[in-house]
Amino acid sequence: MEITITRNEKLKSKPDDDSLGFGTLFTDYMFNMDYDLQKGWHNPRIEPYGSIVMDPATMFLHYGQGIFEGLKAYRTGSGRIQLYRPQENISRLNRSCRRLCIPEIDEDFALDAMKQLIELEKDWVPGAPETSLYIRPTIIAMDPFLGVRASHTYRYFIILSPVGAYYPEGFNPVKILVTSDYVRAVRGGVGEAKTPGNYAASLLAGELAHDAGYTQVLWLDGVEQKYLEEVGSMNIFFVIDDEIITPALNGSILPGVTRKSVIELAKHWNENVSERKISIDELMQAHAAGSLKEVFGAGTAAVISPVGQIKFIDQVITINDNQTGPVAKKYYQAITDMQYGRADDPMGWIVPIS
Ligand SMILES: *Cc1c(COP(=O)(O)O)cnc(C)c1O
Repeated sequence: MEITITRNEKLKSKPDDDSLGFGTLFTDYMFNMDYDLQKGWHNPRIEPYGSIVMDPATMFLHYGQGIFEGLKAYRTGSGRIQLYRPQENISRLNRSCRRLCIPEIDEDFALDAMKQLIELEKDWVPGAPETSLYIRPTIIAMDPFLGVRASHTYRYFIILSPVGAYYPEGFNPVKILVTSDYVRAVRGGVGEAKTPGNYAASLLAGELAHDAGYTQVLWLDGVEQKYLEEVGSMNIFFVIDDEIITPALNGSILPGVTRKSVIELAKHWNENVSERKISIDELMQAHAAGSLKEVFGAGTAAVISPVGQIKFIDQVITINDNQTGPVAKKYYQAITDMQYGRADDPMGWIVPIS
């Protein structure tokens, strides 16, 4: 399919690299493509960034049939623009589509469309340390209809947002709260799909955690409320003695690309890494025994986010003296070095744009 490009007469002025936050500024162009039953996915186009006009009965607004992805484009020291494992995001996009009864997109075409949009917008990729251009591919159900069924029409779009460094004040540990009052996802539900409803489900527990002075919620499984699952928008890792542990994918955990990268790097380095069940009791006992060395989150936004304190009911534990540990540092360094082209790419994870 040929992608048509409609140019904008007037372009926005680009922000300063040091004034960037997260998710507030958008570039000049977006990618759009439509689906209907007769034509399938059709009319792929890059056009000026702008509103999507929709009927108030649009199915996405009522029943949440939609999915999204999140990844970044990075500028290297020599000015090249590159993506990190974008095929992983595109195959997860299609897995989310299958779960939400949304028609899948050809993966080679999806990557090509993303590359063309970023190539056109490459001047928007910031160059200051640890900044990037966030990429948000999204699909929403478009039928104007109030019955419950899968929509027959969809819109796929990609928007781009320049984002600042996640750690402007340094790579410091965060405090997280284990909630036993709410769950994010359950076995057989949509927890493993990147779909907006999972975030809506997490908001109240997130607000309560904030009110109590914690940055994020660490979710327990939705069935027994016993096993650790993941944090807000990150997967979670624990270092107990020399074992690096992350909860095994069970249908309610979002399979993160950063999580997968940590596991694959650990195997590449012959470290002791396991994907297995880990209960809150095991975590608390490991801490009491002095064998819990580190805890860190893993996700595209922060890459690695060290955890310094965990609260569960009335117990508060401090991990590694509230300092960032060597394992978190090592993975953060290795992954960001590849993303920003400061190191070789022995894993073949980098996809150059220009
Ligand atoms: C996106 C996401 C993650 C992290 O996935 P990455 O691919 O590493 O960015 C983890 N948990 C949830 C709930 C997410 O939505």
